[in-house]
Amino acid sequence: MDKHLLQKLPKIELHRHIEGAFHPETLFHIAMKNQLDFPSNFHEFKNTLQFPKDSKPDFALFLSKFYNKWYNSLDDVYTVVYNSFVHLDNNENLFYSEIRFNPFHFAIHQGFDPVETLKVFLMAARSAIRATKQNTKLLMTINRGFYPEDKYIEVFQQFMKHVDLLDVVGIDLAGDEVNFPPEHFTKFFNLIQSYGYPCTIHAGEVTSAGQIWTAIDQLHAKRIGHGVKVIEDSQLLHYVKEKGIAFEMCPISNYQTGAYIDTKTHPIKSLLEQGVKVTLNSDDPTVQNTTLVDDYIACVDQMGMNLENLHTLNTNAINASFLTNKEKTQLYNQFNMQWNKTIY
Ligand SMILES: [Zn+2]
Repeated sequence: MDKHLLQKLPKIELHRHIEGAFHPETLFHIAMKNQLDFPSNFHEFKNTLQFPKDSKPDFALFLSKFYNKWYNSLDDVYTVVYNSFVHLDNNENLFYSEIRFNPFHFAIHQGFDPVETLKVFLMAARSAIRATKQNTKLLMTINRGFYPEDKYIEVFQQFMKHVDLLDVVGIDLAGDEVNFPPEHFTKFFNLIQSYGYPCTIHAGEVTSAGQIWTAIDQLHAKRIGHGVKVIEDSQLLHYVKEKGIAFEMCPISNYQTGAYIDTKTHPIKSLLEQGVKVTLNSDDPTVQNTTLVDDYIACVDQMGMNLENLHTLNTNAINASFLTNKEKTQLYNQFNMQWNKTIY
């Protein structure tokens, strides 16, 4: 299939972390301004930010790229967030996206107040989304391992009281799933459910399918981040189909972290053929040195997907998005019009 066509296709993306999708030129500017210990040559700087193209899978190396010491002030937070949202669509043709952010990433290193930091984050993200007319909603990420559960509950309640979260359409649990399994966050996600937020949980990426069961049954997950291990548990496969649980899969990220040893044997195509609601996403394009188009290319070139497969991945994503039913129907119609215009 023509690469140019893959680039032009309209795309629905549900799983991208803004902390993994920062605008490199802006980070370079901030690093130099704040005299951080980074190379003063942009090309070398960019190499230190990104997972090396020729590297073998390496989870520790991948995680080491999520540096959080950029910010000397909330102005720095504003600048990084605004520019990263302005440059969000890197020639990918995002038609609708749900971008997740971890407010603690921006607040924790310099000890900024989480409520004030979140307000600045939202101001920057919203201005950029408005300026570029992107169809984008936000998901808030809770990162395993930053704080104990009770502290998250306390801060989240402050957010609910003091911040307008109108365009935050869901909550995500991310980070180190090996040392912080989902059952550590049951109380928090019961609270989230009582507020009416749907949630997506990173599970079964580098751990077993057991975490996917827990994420669904105890944390009320409607979607699973990655969840590649679902393929190893036939009972779970049956369960997720019955419950309509969606999977946000990211083949290139899964290769780099070692969740899957190569993109050819990635389970996304097999799951799609078995009728599981899978979606295709980039995860952390800046860290990975990729764009969402590269994941489309991997699906076509290495797994043999056709246009119909790609269309199903996108309609699955519309269906699994955290929009209202009315918004989903509208998006579905607009998306199909754009898709047909692109392929014919
Ligand atoms: Zn992720």
